[in-house]
Amino acid sequence: MAGILYLVIPCYNEEEALPITAPILQEKMHRLMDSGVIAENSKIIFVNDGSMDLTWKLICRYHEEDPIFGGINLSRNRGHQNALLAGLMTVKDDADVVISLDADLQDDVDAIDKMIAKYDEGYDVVYGVRNDRKTDSFMKRWSAQSYYRFARRMGGELIYNHADYRLMSRRAIEGLSQFSEVNLFLRGIIPLVGYPSTTVQYSRNKRNAGKSKYTLGKMMALAIDGITSFSVKPMRFVMVTGFITFLISIGMLIYTLIRFFTGHTITGWSSMNVSIWFIGGIVLLSLGIVGEYIGKIYLETKNRPKYIVEEYLK
Ligand code: UDP
Ligand code: MG
Repeated sequence: MAGILYLVIPCYNEEEALPITAPILQEKMHRLMDSGVIAENSKIIFVNDGSMDLTWKLICRYHEEDPIFGGINLSRNRGHQNALLAGLMTVKDDADVVISLDADLQDDVDAIDKMIAKYDEGYDVVYGVRNDRKTDSFMKRWSAQSYYRFARRMGGELIYNHADYRLMSRRAIEGLSQFSEVNLFLRGIIPLVGYPSTTVQYSRNKRNAGKSKYTLGKMMALAIDGITSFSVKPMRFVMVTGFITFLISIGMLIYTLIRFFTGHTITGWSSMNVSIWFIGGIVLLSLGIVGEYIGKIYLETKNRPKYIVEEYLK
């Protein structure tokens, strides 16, 4: 038996999705408890990430109707990754094993059974991996795939096609809690925690209600964090580019001198123009990348709390 299972579900403005999600999970959990797969006091914990709609009201109502539902209310919106971490850290002493999933149930809930089976076999971390990307738009599919490839080349240890649908044992969460960094990209940190891990395949559906809460801006921020919080390779790339540009400029200097002494100085306006833009572009890009790291260091030294829990209903 897997012991006490907690489901942790970050919710941001999910008043449309929760009324569909809650009964499905409730039924699932009761079924698992009745068949003795998980312990009686297992729970479903919704983390309200500073929603502006009725999300928290709904969570409180579910909690009153059935104690299987619990809730964590954050003091404001801190984003999906922080909300998820808040959930894991808050429940880690009450649960033996935790599964995190999204409030819109895009991830097939039947994978929960497979994950628990893997946990019973002795795995501490079970990653949910999508078996296809059929329900994604072409753009999302393409950008996601190129991103995974790029991130891997940059040295990030990412599990291919794994979002944040995963099972973690208590000791894995305990391990995660020792990573105190502020720049949080859970998908990249959890492989570093170690312990035996495996994957489980599932199919991903469309969001059950409401709109995606991941705006383009939030997605880009997550993508940049994913790479810069794990690897200094982009900075090394900047250095190599700088070095190559320097070598080219020596060649250009020699070339210019030869042209000067042979009396051809006026020609070459176009090459000049192109190189100014090219070098200017590289310089700005490089500054941007370096700046990104300095920004990260700045945030880490301030060591601000990643979230503040206002209330924990259990
Ligand atoms: N979410 C959150 N805080 C945010 C944005 C999103 O807690 O600032 C939650 C959201 O409620 C959902 C999960 O993160 O449970 C994934 O978001 P969504 O389904 O909108 O993303 P998508 O599946 O479109 O990538
Ligand atoms: Mg979703």
